[in-house]
Amino acid sequence: MQLRIPGPTPCPSQALQAMTKQMINHRGREFAELINSITTKLKQVFQTTGDVFLLTSSGTGGLEAAIVNILSPGDKILATSCGIFGDRFADIAEKYDAKVKRLNFEWGKPVSPEAISKALKAASDIKAVLVTHNETSTGVTNDLGKISSIVKEFDKLLLVDAVSSLGCIDLPADNWHCDVVVTGSQKGWMVPPGLAMVSMSEKAWQAHTQAKMPRYYWDFTKAKDYLQRGQTPWTPAISICYALDATLNLMLNEGLSNIFARHAKIAQMTRTGIKSLGLPLFAEDNCASNTVTAVKTDDKLDAAKLIQILRDEYNVVIAPGQRKLRGKIFRIGHLGLVEENDIKTVLEALARALPKAKF
Ligand SMILES: *Cc1c(COP(=O)(O)O)cnc(C)c1O
Repeated sequence: MQLRIPGPTPCPSQALQAMTKQMINHRGREFAELINSITTKLKQVFQTTGDVFLLTSSGTGGLEAAIVNILSPGDKILATSCGIFGDRFADIAEKYDAKVKRLNFEWGKPVSPEAISKALKAASDIKAVLVTHNETSTGVTNDLGKISSIVKEFDKLLLVDAVSSLGCIDLPADNWHCDVVVTGSQKGWMVPPGLAMVSMSEKAWQAHTQAKMPRYYWDFTKAKDYLQRGQTPWTPAISICYALDATLNLMLNEGLSNIFARHAKIAQMTRTGIKSLGLPLFAEDNCASNTVTAVKTDDKLDAAKLIQILRDEYNVVIAPGQRKLRGKIFRIGHLGLVEENDIKTVLEALARALPKAKF
């Protein structure tokens, strides 16, 4: 089976093997060693010397944790969005009574750094900016380096959804002054769903001491306190921790720059292959994601039927478009455990399935 959706992604045998291990006391010495090992390695991948926490949840829980630990009800924030996940980040902030100014961009296009600059100039009382590094719903990667330099020019907090980019696409959290960075285990990390990982900068901690949004399970004061003792406040997903410890070894052995280069090369190969099948890409090359490729369909190509045929006849699983993009695009995930041969298989299957999926 070729599971080529943008999460969950396939797990290497080292991760699956690790998860067969017996349970341990999560308040004991063995778990302390495990979480310390994971945290040290995670910091290398986040490229941060700040704190990194493991939360038991999917990525969205990490986004909620970022909001409630940094903000207070009534805080003005600028929420940038070019797709479903940008909208979600804004929705969470709104639910907790932040005053959300939405800066939306056409789906398939990136967030404009200049527009952020303009918005921050126009409203000096904005406290934080929300950005989705890699918009999984449209296959677009935003220019976070440029965006962060603008956000910092205005000295605002920068909260980043890096769920589908971190560990695949370069994101130097400290160099880019990202205050909170959120990711999720089932994307580039090659382990099952169930863990979110979140980093906090010094400035984020300062904001945290003033932040009044309600929080209990997500409280980072507790998380920091417990981590100093090699624990988490609540019972962690121990089996996924075993797996993550193993895949982090694989990742650090490969080396960050090699991982980024592999994703870039495979993404390029995907885009070239799609174009040579005569299909148009949804995002332009200059913002096309290295972890997920969105492909446009037209009134002659039935996306749902194509996905079904790939699944049933070729054992290839790809993802549909979400919400208003359903039936208009399909998406190929190429993140985490992926090599050139995997994409070759997908492209060959596509070539065979396409003529059968006409309206
Ligand atoms: C997958 C994803 C999420 C989180 O989704 P969960 O289902 O909660 O793990 C958030 N943002 C982006 C960009 C994602 O790709």
